[in-house]
Amino acid sequence: MLLCFQVPVLISQLFEETYCELRPRSTVPELNVEFFSFANINNTIRLREGKLLVRISDLLEGAPDYVLRAIAHILLAKMYRKPINREHATRYRRYVSTQHMSQKAHLVRQIRGRKRIDSAQGHTYNLEAIFDELNTRFFHGLLARPQMTWSSEHARNRLGHYDPAHNAIVVSRIFDHPRVPRFAVEYIVYHEMLHLKHPVRLRGSRRCVHSAEFQAEERTFPQLEEAKQFLKLL
Ligand SMILES: [Zn+2]
Repeated sequence: MLLCFQVPVLISQLFEETYCELRPRSTVPELNVEFFSFANINNTIRLREGKLLVRISDLLEGAPDYVLRAIAHILLAKMYRKPINREHATRYRRYVSTQHMSQKAHLVRQIRGRKRIDSAQGHTYNLEAIFDELNTRFFHGLLARPQMTWSSEHARNRLGHYDPAHNAIVVSRIFDHPRVPRFAVEYIVYHEMLHLKHPVRLRGSRRCVHSAEFQAEERTFPQLEEAKQFLKLL
């Protein structure tokens, strides 16, 4: 989920001016400055084929000029091993540590660090279609469909789970394969659908995840044994 925004001329000008201050006798190289959505407040500079590539955290978009000038100075000074002017360093540090900025950074970390919800359409199976079909067959179509998604990794330890925080059923991508029989995928989805129907309850102080009702209903799945056998092979 990394997005880039091309920056208007102004910030490139800031960098050019700063470059001239630091290296008055050399020509300004071609500059490419962009705001970039890092997960944190982060700024980078690289020299590639004579071109300076600068990425500035998009959290600093709209920052006052003196802050952007400070960033330009710090990055270019680092790049060309010049001493960093203390005033610039202080200005930048102060700005970034203001409450406004740290709240913004915190929020973005939460959003960007969040679980990526992939699509329900895999290479072989479509989880939404499977959910809808099972919903009709076993639940009279009464369950509201949560987000259905294949996991981003090929997880073997977690074949499927219902994530109440994101209202999502996540199925391990290892099942999205033509060699995997449909009933095995259906079983995983069916199991998670039972979690939707039977929310986790507290019995005494113990969490009861697979209650007696849950297990009884799971046993009504026609290919339960075949599915369990297949899962053992994984
Ligand atoms: Zn379970």
